[in-house]
Amino acid sequence: MLVLWCLSRCQYVVSDISPGYSVKPGVDIQSCTEETKAAFPVMARVFAEHGQEMVITSGAEPYPRLPGSKHPEGNAVDLRSKHMSISMKFSVLKSLRSHPELQDFDILLENIQQEQEHFHVERDPRTKNHRSNP
Ligand SMILES: [Zn+2]
Repeated sequence: MLVLWCLSRCQYVVSDISPGYSVKPGVDIQSCTEETKAAFPVMARVFAEHGQEMVITSGAEPYPRLPGSKHPEGNAVDLRSKHMSISMKFSVLKSLRSHPELQDFDILLENIQQEQEHFHVERDPRTKNHRSNP
């Protein structure tokens, strides 16, 4: 019994460590690919370096998307941006794009200055640099 208590206690402590980012309720990040999930703590550190918290607002949800979207296959996530100043958004964007551990990802600021604005992060090793912001 003591061993069981200790195991559950230790698990509690381990799971209590903050991952450095938060996820909007109802968003499916568990279905994201392992390669995409591996980028979450890296991106969260970039946000933290700018004094920002990373919030994932969309993950692998299968609801209707634009043709070719990588969200349903778990290779794209959206991150909250609209609460930031315009200079902060582009500062975070630049740091994400230039990070050595994020070179397999296309990172865009979509719907700039609109209600639906967000960072779109898409794992796309082959076509990297084929998409860019205006
Ligand atoms: Zn997206």
